[in-house]
Amino acid sequence: MQRAMSKTGESILLFRHSQREIAVWKENKNIFYCPVCEERVIIRSGERVVPHFSHLPQTACLFSGGEGAYHARGKLQLFQWLTRFNMRADLEVYFPEISQSADIFICIGQKKIAVEFQCSRISRKEILSRIQGYKSIGIESMWILGAKYLKRKGACTFQTNHFLDTFIHSSPQKDYPQLFFYDPFLSEMAVLHHLHPLQTSKLFAKQFIYPLHKLHFKHLFHKEKNPGKFPEVWLKEVQRLRIKVEGAYGSVYQLRRWLYSKGYLFQHLPSICFIPIPYYAAVPVPFYKWQTELYVTWLADLKAGERTDIGRVKKILYSFYGKGTFDFSNALSYYLQLIQRAGYIDIQSSSILRTKKEIICYSSLEQAAQGDQSFFYPFFTEKKAKYEHDSPLFRYTK
Ligand SMILES: [Zn+2]
Repeated sequence: MQRAMSKTGESILLFRHSQREIAVWKENKNIFYCPVCEERVIIRSGERVVPHFSHLPQTACLFSGGEGAYHARGKLQLFQWLTRFNMRADLEVYFPEISQSADIFICIGQKKIAVEFQCSRISRKEILSRIQGYKSIGIESMWILGAKYLKRKGACTFQTNHFLDTFIHSSPQKDYPQLFFYDPFLSEMAVLHHLHPLQTSKLFAKQFIYPLHKLHFKHLFHKEKNPGKFPEVWLKEVQRLRIKVEGAYGSVYQLRRWLYSKGYLFQHLPSICFIPIPYYAAVPVPFYKWQTELYVTWLADLKAGERTDIGRVKKILYSFYGKGTFDFSNALSYYLQLIQRAGYIDIQSSSILRTKKEIICYSSLEQAAQGDQSFFYPFFTEKKAKYEHDSPLFRYTK
């Protein structure tokens, strides 16, 4: 840690002092105290480490864990960067009322934000409890992850996991989630925009990289132009899913068996079973699974012009997952809007919809591939002017 109290009660930030000064303190065995537990701390410095305060080995202080050189270095760089803008920034601020310590604490006008540079993997429970802790005292939190968690798989695809997922779902902008990564050795910030879940371990995103010295804090949250690559990546995903062969325990395998018992083939399902749902509306169930279940138990039996109570559609979903497990409201309303725009249904009121045409399965894999092409390309590339205020998906124009 960088902060400690001197014998006279002064708050010292170590990096603000010269190496000479620090050497003298060490030589004179000056005494410093941890601002959290008030135990004695000592100065550590050397060629390979940023000078910092450290607890004695037998301490019981919750904030005594070694933070590692990577974290220490990044935290300091991020702090120095944040002090350049028109806001108040403090390093290592302890909030006794919630027993939490923020790496960096900033105030912009009335807004208070804890900035955490997270370089170790912690549980979802812990992340959520820390976010909630800050919230309870009126502080937003923003998490910047160590660059080692940024794993690129393709031009617009990245590896993901529960750890990253938790941060996406707790993103400061609910309808525009982002991920932030910082590399203290390159002094670069990477930001992922336009996040869409693809598979449980893969997501679609557009990556932007900024050298820290050229980046303005506010710019981090700007909505970037949509990447034109999405339809291409998406079609490939759907194709991969249709022909995927899975062992007896995979979710696709089980869905296949269920479909087979109902007289359907997974690879021939209509394109509306594979509609992308962006993170902010998504549920933790594979998108194709619940969309297929809806199709088979509802849409497939409808004739053109038939009406359905939207409440019934929700009930169908909850018959698969149980009420109270996942909240399908956002995912479902997003989905219904999209299939309305694709011309399959008419949403007539908040509770009633009407099918416009029968939705039938493809009869071969080739037909499905062609069908997906002609379904998804116009689906993503509708004219901007016409749909400007509509669903975010339609903003995917080149
Ligand atoms: Zn302490």
